[in-house]
Amino acid sequence: MKTSTKEYQILSPVFEDCWKIFSAHFPHLQHPVMRIGRNKKTWGICYGCTPAKISLSKALAKKPLEFQQHVIFHELCHLIYPNHRREFYDLLDCFDPTHQHQNERTNSRIDKMEEMRRKVMGEML
Ligand SMILES: [Zn+2]
Repeated sequence: MKTSTKEYQILSPVFEDCWKIFSAHFPHLQHPVMRIGRNKKTWGICYGCTPAKISLSKALAKKPLEFQQHVIFHELCHLIYPNHRREFYDLLDCFDPTHQHQNERTNSRIDKMEEMRRKVMGEML
């Protein structure tokens, strides 16, 4: 695992912040290993081993912070639910920053977030 890449330096603190919030609710979980992958088709991949490995796309480092958190929380929720069923999205909604602050945004911003969300979900289904 390369820890010296620029992308790792950018995404690692974001990952740790998300993990802190997430693991406070699920203290039985083991800290997953975060890596930067060469994922071209997905923003993130979660491998369900012990400890779990979460591979984030290099390209994610260039995205806005909220979107990075959105992807990371998506992968963290897979530690609980490996699928994309209703309960998975119910859980994700509790953490996802692009969901929580929707009411404070203008409609175009919400549309943009929704578009991004659909894109990510579509790519990962
Ligand atoms: Zn997923």
